[in-house]
Amino acid sequence: MNNFTYFQPKTLQEAGEMFGKSWHETTALAGGTDLLGLMKDDIEAPRNVVNLKSLPGLNRISYQPGKGLKIGALTSIAKIASHSDINKRYPVLAQAAKQVASPQLRNVGTIGGNICQRPRCWYFRGDFHCLRKGGDICYAVDGKNKYHCVIGGGPCFIVHPSDMAVALLALDAKLTVYSGGKNKTVAIGDFFVLPEKNVRRENILLPGEIVVDIRIQELNNNTKSGYVKFAERGVWDFAVVSVAAVIQKNGNALKKGRVVLGGVAPAPWFEKKISKKLSGLIPSEKNLDEIMKTALVDAEPLAMNEYKLPLAKNLMKRLIGELTA
Ligand SMILES: Cc1cc2nc3c(=O)[nH]c(=O)nc-3n(C[C@H](O)[C@H](O)[C@H](O)COP(=O)(O)OP(=O)(O)OC[C@H]3O[C@@H](n4cnc5c(N)ncnc54)[C@H](O)[C@@H]3O)c2cc1C
Ligand code: SF4
Repeated sequence: MNNFTYFQPKTLQEAGEMFGKSWHETTALAGGTDLLGLMKDDIEAPRNVVNLKSLPGLNRISYQPGKGLKIGALTSIAKIASHSDINKRYPVLAQAAKQVASPQLRNVGTIGGNICQRPRCWYFRGDFHCLRKGGDICYAVDGKNKYHCVIGGGPCFIVHPSDMAVALLALDAKLTVYSGGKNKTVAIGDFFVLPEKNVRRENILLPGEIVVDIRIQELNNNTKSGYVKFAERGVWDFAVVSVAAVIQKNGNALKKGRVVLGGVAPAPWFEKKISKKLSGLIPSEKNLDEIMKTALVDAEPLAMNEYKLPLAKNLMKRLIGELTA
């Protein structure tokens, strides 16, 4: 690991001013569960590290009936998983939090760090100077691509590794981002970027921009939500495919819904066609099978990952079926 200077700012302004113009100069540190691994493996070698944990008040959760939920970016994933209002009002988020990594990592890892974590592609994490590191080749294209994306890829084929991001997109969350002396609001749907737009970064943050909090609107009482994750191991494992759904019922039919997939694309993937078809749907087995035919139609699987397509459709069908039973 390279030597670096460690900063402990007391205010957001102080923190923002510590950043230079490039990620090689300065990086933010939250729980460190991702960043320290990247630094130890020389994948990231910042000259300055700014510890966000020294900023006061960014690790709080507040829920106000009628107004919704606000979660500070430095809140631990464990705290979100066990929060009573989140379990009651936003089960999709609590369920996603409970399935992140392992208890130790959930105690230390933060929600801000979770959505900003770097990809897990084994070439990126290994000794390969690929496109995402500034090289000129994607090793996954002709390499081992069992866990890579099936849609939204090119020229890089990562999947976004965050469970929390999938739930937050289904909830249509808004992020407060500190940028150049003021806060701005960014819809989570606009936060992540696909490789065709920027092959080096996974989100829109510029050096010095800091996620401050995450806000989620109040949900109607007829809303049901949930998260399912398929991973090869029961714990300490990333999603092969996951699904988050937030669905509003209207009698026997569905009023509307948002369905998001994890593990299939370089960003959490909003399933626009399925979400649209939920409006007015009577959720029978036959009807769900029928709408699943329209899911992921634009997918372009790589040599080893076509299995993700039936897996994603079956998980979506199972979750929507369970939420509407
Ligand atoms: C063995 C293992 C298994 C895992 N399994 C899963 C899993 O199943 N599901 C899953 O979702 N994750 C999983 N993870 C990832 C883990 O959840 C993340 O490492 C963790 O959430 C990152 O949070 P952190 O606070 O430690 O972030 P850090 O490691 O401190 O930071 C991560 C990145 O985010 C940036 N960052 C952090 N906070 C902010 C902020 N507020 N504003 C701007 N940038 C910020 C940092 O600069 C850094 O680039 C796993 C990790 C390991 C090591
Ligand atoms: S998928 Fe992306 S991160 Fe992985 S080798 Fe290809 S360019 Fe690098």
